[in-house]
Amino acid sequence: MSALRPGRNVNVAGIGMTSQRTRARMVERLRDQGITDAVVLEAMAGVPRHLFVEEALASRAYEDTALPIGYGQTISQPYVVARMIAELRQNRELGKVLEVGTGCGYQAAVLASLATEVYSIERIRELHERARANLRELRLKNLRLAYGDGGAGLEKAAPFDSIILAAAAPEMPQTLLRQLARGGRMILPLREGKADAQRLVLVERSRLGFTETALDPVRFVPLQAGKA
Ligand code: SAH
Repeated sequence: MSALRPGRNVNVAGIGMTSQRTRARMVERLRDQGITDAVVLEAMAGVPRHLFVEEALASRAYEDTALPIGYGQTISQPYVVARMIAELRQNRELGKVLEVGTGCGYQAAVLASLATEVYSIERIRELHERARANLRELRLKNLRLAYGDGGAGLEKAAPFDSIILAAAAPEMPQTLLRQLARGGRMILPLREGKADAQRLVLVERSRLGFTETALDPVRFVPLQAGKA
């Protein structure tokens, strides 16, 4: 692994200009697709997505598509990342955030550039470690990575102002609802019906309870129980 680092760094420097330009194009596309939150667009423009995918896929890092990151998992599509974060933000700050499903760490980096504090949890040890390596050079001081089953949330850091799931839950995760602060929001892909249909759902917690809003149909990898 460490033997590969220098080559990777040279390569990164080499495509630096291009990636900045392609990133600007990605942001233009997000705007065309209806993402209007300038703060989210700026954060997406600032995070070098190519650092989070394997070198062989780096040239495709700014396409609006999910890409494989190994272990049967994917890095989320830029539009979906922007859309979910924009929904969480609407008219307020993200505050303290919990992300379930760190994967390669891309979305965690975008969140950390916007939030006060971010906790991100991953159940596959190798991905958790890869995310740590990917994120090292970005030096995000307000981001903490945890290895574990995110279905249980992160009791020691709760309550959270924002919770975001990067994997589709089979049903509304009650433990995570309990870890949501009053006035907080959670966004997640939720499986609907028996088929493998999924929909983004936004949950808002007020003094009076929880309200759920169903948003777009989506396609995420499944939330799985236990550590791997
Ligand atoms: N946030 C990533 C997306 C990763 S894909 C990005 O920026 O692109 C979703 C991730 O959720 C996978 O890495 C998968 O291993 C993880 N995952 C699935 N179930 C989980 C669980 N119960 N707890 C923590 N992570 C989980």
